[in-house]
Amino acid sequence: MKALKVILFFFCIFFIGQTEGVAEEKQWTWPVEGRISDYFGTRNGKHFGIDIAAPIGTSIAAMQDGIVTRSYFSDSYGHVVFIKHRDYEAVYAHMNKRLVREGEEILQGQIIGQVGNTGQSNGAHLHLEIHKGSWTIAKTHAVNPLQILGEKQNTVVSASVYVVQKGDTLVSIARKFGTTVGELRVKNQLQKDIIYPSQKLHIN
Ligand SMILES: [Zn+2]
Repeated sequence: MKALKVILFFFCIFFIGQTEGVAEEKQWTWPVEGRISDYFGTRNGKHFGIDIAAPIGTSIAAMQDGIVTRSYFSDSYGHVVFIKHRDYEAVYAHMNKRLVREGEEILQGQIIGQVGNTGQSNGAHLHLEIHKGSWTIAKTHAVNPLQILGEKQNTVVSASVYVVQKGDTLVSIARKFGTTVGELRVKNQLQKDIIYPSQKLHIN
């Protein structure tokens, strides 16, 4: 009986390890299509992220599934969203618009905001930080996002899930993302054209 318990115990450990291993392997995707305009560690080591230049209004997508830890306006970061992606915390800064709230669960590819030029920023870009564990004011846990994302930007799967905002219609969303109402209906198995705020729509 004792042997059976021991075997069961190890089986459970093994099983938990396996499922976690699988979840870990999900590849990170780029948050925005754009040009890298500044790298990690520049400005005398005081730049704790990378900058991705893109036009104002470009959709920013979550790099992984996660949960929003902060969504607010900061004097330095401007409109900023912090997301806990498993063992990391990412900072998406200088947004034009934030589309998610604190505590919200986020899917990889979900649009969380738009590129902007708010806070201490010169020109439209996404300032992106990734911290191992949690963000701290001294940013001592910051890692180079390129190590996690990889230099190749061909893995962009950005802007695949959009959260409906107040005032949106299927027509306005279709126009915004260069698709059609018909496509949206099929992708989201919608019976009617009625959508509601905070509904999640697949857009590509
Ligand atoms: Zn920056």
